Amino acid sequence: MNQFGACAHVPVAGHDKPLGTLLTEAFEISTPSRELIAEVARLSGDAELNHVLENGDRQALDAWLRGRDILDLLGMMPKDAMSLPDFISLLKPLQHRAYSIASSPKEHPGSIHLTVATIRYQSHGRARQGVASTFLADRVGEGKTAPIFLSPNRAFRVPENDAAPMIMIGPGTGVAPFRAFLQERRARGAKGRNWLFFGDQHRDRDFLYQDDFAAMQVSGLLTRLDLAFSRDQAEKVYVQHRMRENARELFAWLEDGGYLSVCGDATHMATDVEQALVEIIASEGAMSADDAEAYLDRLRKEKRYARDVY
Ligand SMILES: Cc1cc2nc3c(=O)[nH]c(=O)nc-3n(C[C@H](O)[C@H](O)[C@H](O)COP(=O)(O)OP(=O)(O)OC[C@H]3O[C@@H](n4cnc5c(N)ncnc54)[C@H](O)[C@@H]3O)c2cc1C
Repeated sequence: MNQFGACAHVPVAGHDKPLGTLLTEAFEISTPSRELIAEVARLSGDAELNHVLENGDRQALDAWLRGRDILDLLGMMPKDAMSLPDFISLLKPLQHRAYSIASSPKEHPGSIHLTVATIRYQSHGRARQGVASTFLADRVGEGKTAPIFLSPNRAFRVPENDAAPMIMIGPGTGVAPFRAFLQERRARGAKGRNWLFFGDQHRDRDFLYQDDFAAMQVSGLLTRLDLAFSRDQAEKVYVQHRMRENARELFAWLEDGGYLSVCGDATHMATDVEQALVEIIASEGAMSADDAEAYLDRLRKEKRYARDVY
């Protein structure tokens, strides 16, 4: 608002809410639309941005945008180059954010638990915050409400077969649905074995649901818990390393009719985990890499290998 010399309560032509409400409730104020980027490139004449846009290379644009938000774009233009109504017309509507449900309605009827990582980082000399995660962490306030809707994911569920082994690979916030899966199995009295691979950076501050999982181990619900805290030692250790260390047993669980689910980071983790899986199947099943891929495809078709990655 400073950028336009405007304050929160000013009306905006064509809208029935004041500027402050539009920016906090109606429009995306972090990620710019393609139209806004193009207009800023035109009005600023910025050589680097124009070069990126002229090449039409999506990856180059994403790399340029990484760590930049709408405020950075506004700062690139001469003052008064864009009017406030023009700026508003170039914003995207605020998009919903998806969060996995981390509890079973059988154990927590009438409520749902979420596991939200708060996005905060420094970039180009300014502190940045994720829109929705910091809304939940800092702004919504206790006892207040936030609009939500439920979006069922029919391809990512607890196995229907209560006797089948269940292997869960969920580092970071990827662990959320698996806490729900475990609660669901406990509530159903499912007898199948359960194995969770969890990891993050540091054990002392990132071990999500440590007490829950400890209690589940004591009760016997969680048969195995393998942990990988990447920054607690000199060499980085991730969940896929723990999978490789336990290759024989992991393959045995699959051969026993196990269901394997992966949740969390799509950029690196999901690919690294799948690579490890193919290697484990190939080595433990004494197969070629092609046959191991086919084995994994069969699991996918039988709905015994599912991913929910983001
Ligand atoms: C199916 C699904 C399930 C999900 N489940 C969960 C869940 O259970 N828990 C959870 O926490 N999240 C989950 N997410 C992610 C969640 O939807 C949001 O994307 C996340 O909370 C960030 O939203 P935000 O509004 O806070 O950040 P935004 O305002 O949307 O900003 C996020 C953007 O900031 C940028 N950014 C972030 N970190 C950096 C950095 N270090 N340097 C530079 N740029 C950076 C990236 O461009 C990123 O896209 C899930 C997503 C999907 C699709």
